[in-house]
This record gives sequence, structure tokens and C-alpha cells, in this order.
Amino acid sequence: MEKKCIYCGQPVTSSRHVLNPKAQNELPCCSAECYNKAKGFLDWDMKNRDRAYIMLFVCIALNLAAMALKITSPIAYLPMTAIGFLIWKYPFAYKYYSSYSRFGIVRTTKIIRGVGAATSLFSLAFVVAAF
Ligand SMILES: [Zn+2]
Repeated sequence: MEKKCIYCGQPVTSSRHVLNPKAQNELPCCSAECYNKAKGFLDWDMKNRDRAYIMLFVCIALNLAAMALKITSPIAYLPMTAIGFLIWKYPFAYKYYSSYSRFGIVRTTKIIRGVGAATSLFSLAFVVAAF
């Protein structure tokens, strides 16, 4: 099976740059540059993941509360704006880093950031349009 760079998604020809060599899933990188960038991303992910999930949880709870209380005010869209923003800021798609090998970290986070930004701007437009 062809190995792909966990960061940029290019085929990996040498096994010189491997993240987590002792883990169950090795994360091959195509170059020292990708290795450093991937490592930076995973470190950042590990440091911020819990905080990001707590903030997301609070916003989702607020969003559900606004729906449950049938709040019709445009303010009710604000939790959704925050959720989109959080997804954009913390594009942590996968619990297991090996899942990134399909598209690479760069492409995966770009897609997630796009979805987050669109969600955020779309719901913000509802709020702004109401005033
Ligand atoms: Zn690469």
C-alpha cells in the first residue's frame, strides 16, 4: 500500500520522517518540513482540544436551549455563529490522527475551516439582517 504524507497528502517514498513511530498507527511524512508542520499541528491539537470541546459543548447547549425555548429573536442565532467560529478556529476533525492520512492535514483542515466559516457567516447574516 502506498503511504501518503500525513500533512500534505503527497506520496511518501522514504521512511525517514515518521511521526509517532512507537504508536499503533505510524504517521509518515514526505519531508522534514511536513514532519515539523504536522508535529506542530498535533501538539497544538493536543493542547487545545479539551478547551475547544468544552466551548463547543456550551455553545451547542445554548443553541439547543434557544430552540427548546422557541426564542424567535435573531439573538438565537448567535450560538450557531460561535459554533461556526470555533470550528473554524479549532479544526480538529479526528480523534485518531491516522484518519488524516486520507486527505492530509492541510486539505482536511481547509475543508473544515471552510464549513465552520460558512456556518458562522451564514448565521451571523441572520442576526445582522434582523436589525
Ligand atoms: Zn508532505
